[in-house]
Amino acid sequence: MKNGIYLIATPIGNIGDISFRAKEVLENAEVIACEDTRVTKKLLSLLQISPKEKTFFALHDHNESIMAQKIIEEASDKIVVYMSDAGSPLISDPGYKLAKAAREQNVYITTVPGACAAICALQISGLPSNAFMFCGFIPNKDKARIDFLSKNKEVDATLIFYERADRLLKTLEVMANVFGMREIAVAREITKLHEECVNGSANQLIEHFSDNPPKGEIVIVVSPPEEKEANPDDYIKELLNELKKNNLKAAVKNIVEKYKLNRNEVYKKALELKNG
Ligand code: SAM
Repeated sequence: MKNGIYLIATPIGNIGDISFRAKEVLENAEVIACEDTRVTKKLLSLLQISPKEKTFFALHDHNESIMAQKIIEEASDKIVVYMSDAGSPLISDPGYKLAKAAREQNVYITTVPGACAAICALQISGLPSNAFMFCGFIPNKDKARIDFLSKNKEVDATLIFYERADRLLKTLEVMANVFGMREIAVAREITKLHEECVNGSANQLIEHFSDNPPKGEIVIVVSPPEEKEANPDDYIKELLNELKKNNLKAAVKNIVEKYKLNRNEVYKKALELKNG
């Protein structure tokens, strides 16, 4: 095994989700950097890996810049692991500054992939997975929450948010205003005993979670906005503009893609416009 930095993903609820490779790297690691050394030592004990002869560093949001340099120095002649308490490092967890510094200083860095709550939630949500945006934690202050959700409203992709159980209802109230009838999935306690995923509009989910107060860890997945409905006036004006800038074929293609219209109809219209 090569010396360098190994970013290891850990289970998000079910210990069985640790990979063979994660275990192998942890067995061989001389240095383990992690968020909370107690949590990591507990995981090692479950995996029957002795913490003896391993050096532990705590790396968290507040000391990441300083610790990143220390870890990079260790990685020149040792196998060094970075892992967060649960799930994939860097995803709403520390590790970005470490990875950036390692790339800049040409230190070997690799990933030992595994669970990530955002991806797990997307998989079970039943919402479109072809294009998605991970938005991280939703701010807690009222105005910041509204601004944050509104800012992402037009993104043409499924949106994924991390949220705390005690803030879910408040967030769903804002989501009802911002996202209207868009389908939302609330995935809770994924891979744990009480895993559930509830789908509905924000208002339906408010009703559900008012009757069943949510507990545990939560990911909210929001379906993409409806496709733009073609307003004939808009598209004809825009088609005229396109014809001024582009040839007929390119103009038609741009309009068909933007407004999801029938190609033959747009082509016919473009010819009429072109011929006055
Ligand atoms: N880096 C981790 C990952 O990629 O899975 C996420 C770390 S972030 C500090 C913790 C948040 O992830 C939780 O507040 C929750 O929103 C989400 N999360 C973690 N485990 C979860 C689970 N088992 N079920 C649902 N959400 C989970």
